[in-house]
Amino acid sequence: MSMSESSTPSELTERICALESQAEAYQRTIHDLRTRDALKTQFLSNISHDLRTPLAAIITHAEILREGMLGELNKRQLDSLGGIVSGGQQLLDMIDEILTYVRAANDQIALTICDFEIADVIDQVRQLNEPLAAKKHITVARTNGDDIDPIDGDRDKIKHVLSNLIGNAIKFTPQGGRVWVSATRHEREVLVEVGDTGSGIAPENHELIFREFAQVDATPSRPHHGTGLGLAIARRLIELHSGRIWVQSELGSGSRFYFTIPTTQQAK
Ligand code: ADP
Repeated sequence: MSMSESSTPSELTERICALESQAEAYQRTIHDLRTRDALKTQFLSNISHDLRTPLAAIITHAEILREGMLGELNKRQLDSLGGIVSGGQQLLDMIDEILTYVRAANDQIALTICDFEIADVIDQVRQLNEPLAAKKHITVARTNGDDIDPIDGDRDKIKHVLSNLIGNAIKFTPQGGRVWVSATRHEREVLVEVGDTGSGIAPENHELIFREFAQVDATPSRPHHGTGLGLAIARRLIELHSGRIWVQSELGSGSRFYFTIPTTQQAK
């Protein structure tokens, strides 16, 4: 027998009232959470802008000193300034990542579509990462993709995604390892793979790592630093292209990150 058949009209009215007030409470909680989320994003945006300006000034002044514009310096002084510049640049990159995340969270990222060769972009990002890879004796190879005709997309945004994936691959791969990038065309989309022989990721973390601020090892003493925003931004940028991004990996046996982008973009 269903509840409506066994309940009196006044019991039903009472039950409806209870459900209505429960629904109202949920609405209030949702509103509250949205307000807090907006406050968090606003705070991140303000603090990042405020940190960026003095940090950029510190880097510029250190560079002026390093270039000898204010007088000659000895080797120890130059080395020390080198440390200030590279540490400052690392911080600046993290702040810029937070600012990109804020713009993505506020739907303020628009695509500028042009046609470009995916192999070209891959090679550009490989080249930019060459010094980092060389320090760890890691090779970053492109295994194919020369035969792919130009595709439609936002070149800079795809470069940003590749920089994050290749940067992570180098970061999480030990000395002497291998990183490779491949691009293949499948009917109306291009599939890009960034693989590495690094630490790998347990399957239960495959979804988690694409969430904002998520890191498998989030302890302060973790060996690799970062904001935990790179993959969340990458996912957003790929979704703006109507593509998909995912990972295949096992702990201890390297990782393969994949993304697809349609070869032509519909006007949005
Ligand atoms: P970040 O690199 O700043 O921590 P990301 O969003 O780029 O942020 O990555 C989130 C997490 O995913 C990393 O902290 C790491 O735990 C994991 N991860 C990403 N790429 C790799 C990789 N190639 N190999 C192993 N773990 C990875």
